Amino acid sequence: MDGNRRWVANTLQHPDRDPTRREMLTAGQQPYAAVLSCIDSRVPPELVFDTGLGELFVMRSGGVAVGPVITGSVEYGPMTSGTPLIVVLGHQRCGAISAAYRALREGKPLPGNLQAIMKALHPAYERTMGQSSGDPAEAMARAHVKMTANALRGNRDLAPLVAQGTLAVVSAYYSLGTGRVEILNGAPAA
Ligand SMILES: [Zn+2]
Repeated sequence: MDGNRRWVANTLQHPDRDPTRREMLTAGQQPYAAVLSCIDSRVPPELVFDTGLGELFVMRSGGVAVGPVITGSVEYGPMTSGTPLIVVLGHQRCGAISAAYRALREGKPLPGNLQAIMKALHPAYERTMGQSSGDPAEAMARAHVKMTANALRGNRDLAPLVAQGTLAVVSAYYSLGTGRVEILNGAPAA
C-alpha cells in the first residue's frame, strides 16, 4: 500500500530493479505477496504497487476469473514458501466483467474460450443481480473479487494458514483515473 501511495502521488522509487538485486535473487526468492489481478493493460501490479524483482508473485486472468490452474498458481507461494499475503485485485471499467455482464443478462454465450471467463464470473453476476443502485458491472467487479478472496480464505489448503495468522487474503479495487487501490475486505487487524 505504501507503493500504491507512491504511484498515486507520482513519487515512484522503482525499488529493487538493479543488477545487484537481480543477481542476489538467482539464489532464490521470497516474495511478500501474491497478487491475482486482471489482464488489463492499465493495471500492472508491479507498477501500481511500485515494486521490483522478487517482491510479488503475479497471476493475471481476464476479469480476475479463476479456475484450478489459476487458483493453484495463487496458492503456490503461501503453500510452499510462506508468502503471507494474497491480494485479489479488481478494477474499474473492466472490459471482461462488462462483456460477461452483458452476455449473462442477454443469455448469449461469448465466443470460443471467452465463454469460460463468463462462466467463472457467473456467481458474481448472480450475487449482484437486482441491485437497484449504481453501475451493475462495477458492482459485479467488486462482488467478484470479494467472493474470490472469501473462497481462497476458506478453502481447504489456505484456511489453516489463515487460522494460524500466517496468511491474509485481501480483496481490493483499483481506480483507473486516480491509480488508487482500495481494500475491500480481508485486511488483518492492525
Ligand atoms: Zn479487467
